[in-house]
Amino acid sequence: KMMMDADSPYLASSGKIRELEDDNISYIIKKKLCVWCRQPSGLWELGTIQSTSGEEASVSLSDELLLQVINVARSEFVPANPKIFEGVDDLMKLCYLNEPSVLHNIKFRHSQDMIYTKAGPVLIAVNPFKDLQIFGNDRISAYKQKFTNSPHVFAVADEAFTEMMRDEANQSIIISGESGSGKTETAKIAMQYLVAVGGSNRGTEEKILQTNHVLEAFGNAKTSRNENSSRFGKLIEIHFSTMGKIHGAKVQTFLIEKSRVVQLASGERSYHIFYQLCAGSSFGLKERLNLRAASYYKYLNQSECLMIDGIDDAKKFHQLMKALDIVQICKEDQELIFKVLAAILWLGNISFKVADSENDIEVLDDEAVTSAARLMGCSSQALKAALSTKKIQPEKDTNAKKLILQQAIQTRDEIAKFMYENLFNWIVDQINKSLQVGKRCTGKSINILDITGFESFQKSSFEQFCINYANERLQHHLNRHLFKQEQEDYESDGIEWTKIYFKDNQECLDLFERKPHSLLTLLDEESNLPKASDLTFANKLKQHLSTNPYFKGERGRAFSVRHYEGEVLYDTNGFLEKNRDFMPSDSVQFLASCKCELLPLFSKMFDQSLKCSNSFSTGAVDSQEQSVCKKFKGQLFNLIDQLECTTPHFIRCIRPNAKQLPDIYDEDLVLQQLKCSGILEVVRTSRAGYPTRMTHQEFSTRYGFMLSEANKYQDPLSTSVAILQQFNIPSEMYQFGYTKLYLRAGQTGSLELKRKQV
Ligand code: ATP
Ligand code: MG
Repeated sequence: KMMMDADSPYLASSGKIRELEDDNISYIIKKKLCVWCRQPSGLWELGTIQSTSGEEASVSLSDELLLQVINVARSEFVPANPKIFEGVDDLMKLCYLNEPSVLHNIKFRHSQDMIYTKAGPVLIAVNPFKDLQIFGNDRISAYKQKFTNSPHVFAVADEAFTEMMRDEANQSIIISGESGSGKTETAKIAMQYLVAVGGSNRGTEEKILQTNHVLEAFGNAKTSRNENSSRFGKLIEIHFSTMGKIHGAKVQTFLIEKSRVVQLASGERSYHIFYQLCAGSSFGLKERLNLRAASYYKYLNQSECLMIDGIDDAKKFHQLMKALDIVQICKEDQELIFKVLAAILWLGNISFKVADSENDIEVLDDEAVTSAARLMGCSSQALKAALSTKKIQPEKDTNAKKLILQQAIQTRDEIAKFMYENLFNWIVDQINKSLQVGKRCTGKSINILDITGFESFQKSSFEQFCINYANERLQHHLNRHLFKQEQEDYESDGIEWTKIYFKDNQECLDLFERKPHSLLTLLDEESNLPKASDLTFANKLKQHLSTNPYFKGERGRAFSVRHYEGEVLYDTNGFLEKNRDFMPSDSVQFLASCKCELLPLFSKMFDQSLKCSNSFSTGAVDSQEQSVCKKFKGQLFNLIDQLECTTPHFIRCIRPNAKQLPDIYDEDLVLQQLKCSGILEVVRTSRAGYPTRMTHQEFSTRYGFMLSEANKYQDPLSTSVAILQQFNIPSEMYQFGYTKLYLRAGQTGSLELKRKQV
């Protein structure tokens, strides 16, 4: 049922554009110019047309080693850009905006260590995987003083800052891209710039920068794709006074991946902080926590990956302690944080034995139990009871039922995850208290969004489901903005234009959100049914959604979604449980009774979020708590609302290879990401409009000298008109705006050629 990825949609609806391109092709054939030929492998190769006959051209490939002439069908080649366009810093400057030209341009720039390229309003950032000397203070001041505006994160940050001051409007820098593409580094580079530009009192700025250290220690981990992968999304607001000085900041985080605390894929690690603590804590702290080496703990050693090449966890721990000091988490609180972390590690080492024929279990009475209990501030007895029994009436102390092994393990892991998630949120709260925006501040803010990018695995799970949904929402935001901007540009410059078809993703969003039957509503419905299973959930989806072209039922428990970024196969295994995220009230009560000060606090935070959720959820016969996807959707809508009130700036990060190595460029991988990101769509859409824009002055200066004497004029506008006439540019190829000349794609190509021939 899955619709094929339709050919670029506007081509069909706008025959005119295709005709124009055909004109260009006959010109190219006549002039024997360069073309990109599609190879059977799908890759493109550069060649020069030698001769043509009928529907075929014979093309000599420009392979330097051996001269090869091949026959290529008309449909298999597209015009290449003249050499002068090689490596332009904005794709919109290319005269031919086809796929191979775009790819070649980015590849060429990457080979020259030029990692930044504009695609109209979007900055493309290719991860260099090596230190480039382009982030120093000299560069910052060059952008600050407007000596340069070549594409750079600094340029984007500067634009945001300038527009905030000029328009007195909030700004946002929205960073997207796959895991390992460089989002978090890019966010830090943007912050570095803003801190340099808006710095006034060193304290606040240093705090803002150190926040990154803390968040990364607790929220990042080594995965198979990135040794420092952020396992949460974040939005950092930096607030400025009306004078443009930094006043404070605020961090919001989304959906920390807590399953990582108890379960690891082979070769991956849990959160950095665990290894740092084990490696770097002082003798005294180790004693107080009864701490061993990381390899001693089951939550850490299960994946057989304890170290990261070239990373010194002990050193990182010392840096972290400094960062904690700077963000004003006091020593006592730091000690509490470490206690909770050690307690989690010891919890993971607690094991069970089956006690009798009823399959009832008992907690093994060993060092793990005593250590965990001591750190949590409860008796071993209380901890053992919490892990092995379930109260029939949670409110009363009587009547406890024994758990079976699987339930006991689950309870233990739930408690560990609950403690970690709340610890993370609590730390974020503390950071926010210390970064607090002054009450009297009336200025504006710049928001930097670094959210987990689109993910697709062989079998994707609930986490990817949420992440991809969020990315779909953000893409919608991007599309709407770009479309609006294009429209406004034309209108404000007095250009007539017909509405361009813009590939939207509303329908895919509807699949997720639209009532009564959407992926999210059906997931919540099913999560509320006690007897439901992942299989009944999958069947329910198939029953209600299989007429939707964006949905496809797969075998067994699986289904696929046709995302903007491509098709993703989801396995519903674990969906319901992860969505319910059930924390038994027994366990919450148990934590509330612990003496380690943070634990009762966490259970209070939990109660509060319950209260919010009840007022938030709409009417449903209420399950005692809010599902994860509902909570996430709420957060996401708030985020989008917040972004809607800002002027957005987009940065798209690209991972040039999967090996995390410098100087390797995998064309397929890049193409796939460009397609996913909608960048090619941006490029295609603008090709349907007038992507080449030059002021009348620029245009007349560049080409005016080619005019014959009789045609020379003084003013730029008349000169421009004369150029277009003398060189027979058809009138449907351009329009004059109040300030600029708007040209269809490809038109400057022929002018450039003539210019060279003169
Ligand atoms: P995830 O979604 O997994 O969090 P990410 O997009 O945030 O991934 P980063 O952690 O920012 O990716 O980058 C991955 C790695 O790439 C960094 O640890 C660093 O080694 C390298 N890297 C990224 N950007 C740059 C840069 N501008 N200069 C040098 N190296 C970089
Ligand atoms: Mg990251």
